[in-house]
Amino acid sequence: MPLNFLSTPIDYLAGIGPERAKLLRSELHIHTYGDLANLFPNRYIDKTKYYKINQLVPDSAQVQILGKIINIKTAGSGKSERLVATFADETGRMELVWFRSQKHFRDSLKINEPYVAFGKVARYGSQYNIAHPDLELLVDHKSRKQSAMTPVYPSTEMLAKRKVTNTYIVKCMRKLFSEINGAFVETLPDDMREHYKLIGKNEAMLNVHFPTTPELLKHSIYRLKFEELFFIQMELLLQNRIRKTKIRGYVFDNVGDKFTDFYKNHLPFELTGAQKRVVKEIRADMGTGAHMNRLLQGDVGSGKTIVAVLTALLALDNGFQACIMAPTEILAQQHYSGVSELLEGTGITVSLLTGSVKTKARRTIHEELEDGTLDILIGTHALIEDKVKFKNLGVAIVDEQHRFGVAQRAKLWKKNELPPHVLVMTATPIPRTLAMSLYGDLDISVIDELPPGRKEIKTVHRYDKNRLAVFGFIRDEIALGRQIYMVYPLIEESEKLDYKDLQDGYDSIVREFPLPKYKVSIVHGRMKPEDKDYEMNRFVNGETQIMVATTVIEVGVNVPNASVMIIESAERFGLSQLHQLRGRVGRGGDQSYCILMTGHKLSANSKTRLDTMVATTDGFKIAEVDLKLRGPGDLMGTQQSGVMDLRLADIVKDNHILAIAREAAQKLLAKDVKIEKPEHAGVKRVMSFLQNKKGLWKYIS
Ligand code: ADP
Ligand code: MG
Repeated sequence: MPLNFLSTPIDYLAGIGPERAKLLRSELHIHTYGDLANLFPNRYIDKTKYYKINQLVPDSAQVQILGKIINIKTAGSGKSERLVATFADETGRMELVWFRSQKHFRDSLKINEPYVAFGKVARYGSQYNIAHPDLELLVDHKSRKQSAMTPVYPSTEMLAKRKVTNTYIVKCMRKLFSEINGAFVETLPDDMREHYKLIGKNEAMLNVHFPTTPELLKHSIYRLKFEELFFIQMELLLQNRIRKTKIRGYVFDNVGDKFTDFYKNHLPFELTGAQKRVVKEIRADMGTGAHMNRLLQGDVGSGKTIVAVLTALLALDNGFQACIMAPTEILAQQHYSGVSELLEGTGITVSLLTGSVKTKARRTIHEELEDGTLDILIGTHALIEDKVKFKNLGVAIVDEQHRFGVAQRAKLWKKNELPPHVLVMTATPIPRTLAMSLYGDLDISVIDELPPGRKEIKTVHRYDKNRLAVFGFIRDEIALGRQIYMVYPLIEESEKLDYKDLQDGYDSIVREFPLPKYKVSIVHGRMKPEDKDYEMNRFVNGETQIMVATTVIEVGVNVPNASVMIIESAERFGLSQLHQLRGRVGRGGDQSYCILMTGHKLSANSKTRLDTMVATTDGFKIAEVDLKLRGPGDLMGTQQSGVMDLRLADIVKDNHILAIAREAAQKLLAKDVKIEKPEHAGVKRVMSFLQNKKGLWKYIS
């Protein structure tokens, strides 16, 4: 059989004429034999099972029933005219109904002969029926070799309309496999298949379409998913390796005075084990001569700032400058005051550059940056303006990366002869295996430990009718000197309504908590930046006790004295957002609380989100639930990595296979990094194909 057999145009398959070939091309992207073979079923119908009529329930889906037709009649008239057969078994009666081809069926149906009827069950009144059933005489049914499970292939509206039915596709598939069975080239090495108990390519391909047993089907799907994930991992690991060898970075092998002095004399607390490990990883990275591009994941409050400072000091010790970029003015300001405080007495110079820095001060910053008197620059997007020129930027630290695009990061690179090392910090945790497979171009460090002495934030779910009790609680907390956040949803589509809710909420809070005893701040996205900052600062400085806000406060704001986070219409927030918001409290030594307010009607999905929040404060656990609820589609970067093109595997549900496939890829590369051993020829072929940026499955066939 010639190797390119699978690339035979689909028109050549017996039974597929030019018309249908065209449909298959346009609707399902099936151009060749190989493409058709790689059209995988969405699901299977178990035809090993027969239902009794008295076992049917309204949503029985597709069922198979053994019985006899005892009566045929025409019912209705005009458009609703239909042929109705009464179908009976020993447990009851139901109806089989035809709207089309009535004459044909009236003439051909046999009374009192055993039939097997198959189809989707519906119920009208007390009567079950199947419209246009697949109907087969029991004798024929028995004589035909049955495969246990019938595949159901993806379809489209157009295909259904043009009568390219599932039965037709199954027929084509049968024809195809009678011609090409055994044509698939094994892609995975023998030892790997043995070690991970993976069945062969040909067996898997045949059984995924025509499973002989449920067991074999399971093994086939596993094998094919493994293969898919394995090659994606191979590609990511190789890309990462290429980046490390090709993109040079400054060598920071000098751990000098500034780092050591700070570590010995200015560190305000002992680093946690996780912080130490991460700093070590960063140091190792920046010392190699390769370019660092590292993602630092750490839950809110896990202490990323100190890691950023230590990273900056490593650059300084090697004669370079550092910058820290934050997504908002408020955050940049907080970083600036936090970092300045940490570095007090060290002689290291730090400046803040944001949109609101006045021209004169700005000019000074520009000058000091260019002549190298300024060590660390902290700021917002203002940092990547063209006028900002570093003398020698050694490391760029980017906080809360999901607000920064790749393009913006690339802009930072242009300021140097070599790209500065990049450390991206995020408080949006992603399960580790998933993160590793999504961000092929990033290395990952995780702070998975909170500083000691933190009190767990108590989280409760309350309904709107409990509002008075909640107000009472707020009063008590304020009496203890604490501050309160009250957050309202802001969703673009209903922006106007949201602002009305926010305003109403604010009005009622002001009524409940009147001047002069209480002072309430309000912050939202429609305010001018300076008004926003003014209000925010009043709250930060403790001048107001309650902050009513939209999600603008979501990211990073640090007010250790705030102990209560009330989230209004909590059912409208996503899990990661709820988690971020909750992270605004629990930053001081006091017991903190998060109250999730909702109305009475909750969807199952909302309920799961709320329950999860109440049950755990572990950001990684929350991220996992979130992924299961939303799927990975929303995660940043997934489009770039090609992961979304997965045919069979589901990056979330098949996470365990992913981890194993990654391990297999790592092992293979450890043995044979150039993929040149003869036993890896199959792997090599797929990889060189992938490098030409063709779809994975085009080749794997
Ligand atoms: P995030 O990861 O959210 O940016 P921060 O860096 O703002 O967290 O740290 C949160 C708080 O925890 C800060 O007040 C910081 O001073 C404190 N902190 C960080 N690391 C430690 C530690 N190892 N021991 C005690 N407190 C720490
Ligand atoms: Mg932070």
